[in-house]
Amino acid sequence: MAQVLSPDVESLRTAVAGQVLQAGDPGYEEARVIWNADIDRRPAVIVRCANAADVSAAIGFARRQNLEIAVRGGAHSTAGACIVEDGLMIDLSLMREVTVDPVARRAVVGGGATLGDRDDATQAHGLATTGGLVSHTGVAGLTLGGGMGWLTRKFGLAIDNLVSAEVVTADGRILRASASDNPDLFWAIRGGGGNFGVVTAFEFKLHPLEPMVQLGLFFWSVDRTAEVLRLARDLFSTLPAELNIMIAAINAPPEPFVPEQHRFQPGIALLVTGFGSAEEHAAIVSRIRAELPPLFDLVTPLPYVQLLKMFDEGNAFGFRGYDKSVYLGDLSEGAISVVAEQLPRKQSPLSALFFYRLDGAYSAVGEDETAFGGGRSPRYALFIIALADSVEGLAADRQWVRTLWDALQPHALGIGSYVNGESEFADDRVRSSYGPAKYERLARIKAVYDPDNVFHLNANIHPAT
Ligand SMILES: Cc1cc2nc3c(=O)[nH]c(=O)nc-3n(C[C@H](O)[C@H](O)[C@H](O)COP(=O)(O)OP(=O)(O)OC[C@H]3O[C@@H](n4cnc5c(N)ncnc54)[C@H](O)[C@@H]3O)c2cc1C
Repeated sequence: MAQVLSPDVESLRTAVAGQVLQAGDPGYEEARVIWNADIDRRPAVIVRCANAADVSAAIGFARRQNLEIAVRGGAHSTAGACIVEDGLMIDLSLMREVTVDPVARRAVVGGGATLGDRDDATQAHGLATTGGLVSHTGVAGLTLGGGMGWLTRKFGLAIDNLVSAEVVTADGRILRASASDNPDLFWAIRGGGGNFGVVTAFEFKLHPLEPMVQLGLFFWSVDRTAEVLRLARDLFSTLPAELNIMIAAINAPPEPFVPEQHRFQPGIALLVTGFGSAEEHAAIVSRIRAELPPLFDLVTPLPYVQLLKMFDEGNAFGFRGYDKSVYLGDLSEGAISVVAEQLPRKQSPLSALFFYRLDGAYSAVGEDETAFGGGRSPRYALFIIALADSVEGLAADRQWVRTLWDALQPHALGIGSYVNGESEFADDRVRSSYGPAKYERLARIKAVYDPDNVFHLNANIHPAT
């Protein structure tokens, strides 16, 4: 354990409005719990910040004390990038305030807010913006790496809806980043992760979205994987912008709509979501039922905020996780046969594949408008996720993730990955995820805002020399 002298910690306690915790303090053990139970680290100091000034004080303290800094938003990083052994953890989980301006259609969101905090608040006004699949994910980490979810086809990535941010930089300054204020920093934080400072507030553009959406969930046994992927490919070729389809290779949940004999069985599902006309949605539903009758389905309108919580339980805090990601230009026959062959080999019922379709509004944004590493041509982002409740279970499926990822490489679009879908951040993988030109531009901006690489527990961009 690092030696942090108590008089120094006492001075930090007096300086901040939030809480300063060390081992033995009430609340310390709870504050070091992160989503991935496979990671168990004990920071020397945890600063539960109440505002941007606290963040600035915590950075200054850590630098003076030579403590490595980790920044915690929603704590979902499978790599455990939000927590550090012996160092100082800047914990933003007290900063979850969301303010919605329904007239200007803007939301200002605290740096520690979850997607649920933000989306519940915006939906109260019939408004929404892009988030992810699980509502307890942090807005911060998800947005800084890009952010993809149900609404990506309609509204682009989370970063495509970012209007401005408040950023505390490595030297403790509190800066605004937007198209007109520190535009280089604004460009970099839209995809470049937590490399450039601690974001204490995000301002998002909002869009009208009806509170009720259409859901069609169709489930097939795992031996039908190739047929389901081909069907999805056909459906996407003419899919209206108001609809999306998530392809999810999951085990059937023990829900009332699932016939008893299919519960917990491995399989593959299409989740067809409709954010516009019910007729367009109904047409796809009929087509799926006619072309490839599923084992069971659930077709129902449901509140959008409920859709956003559908995968919460299966991805709860407390499981052990590991993931990798890959971009596929298309569901080619080669990629389909790899997935169909490898999918039945996963062992944990919680391990899963999620295919996010990226096109429409996603592809309307220029390649260089943001620092996001994935190209903007239409594609799929595939998350390959191992999730288990034991060390042995995770070890087996970690190997499954790696084998499937390797086997998909000949069919992948480029060699990059989505930085938010990776548990390991080898330097060469980070560089290839951005490509040389973007990486060099990010490195130059890093040299301006964080020349000493204070924020390096992330998909790290090394400052240009
Ligand atoms: C169950 C699950 C579901 C997911 N679903 C999706 C999805 O649908 N779409 C998607 O795009 N991604 C998804 N992801 C990936 C997710 O986007 C990343 O794990 C993301 O990093 C999580 O952000 P966080 O704030 O919760 O994580 P944290 O672990 O708190 O942080 C992740 C990284 O961001 C940095 N960071 C956090 N907060 C700040 C801040 N305020 N300022 C600066 N840096 C900060 C951290 O230092 C760390 O490097 C999912 C992950 C999980 C585990």
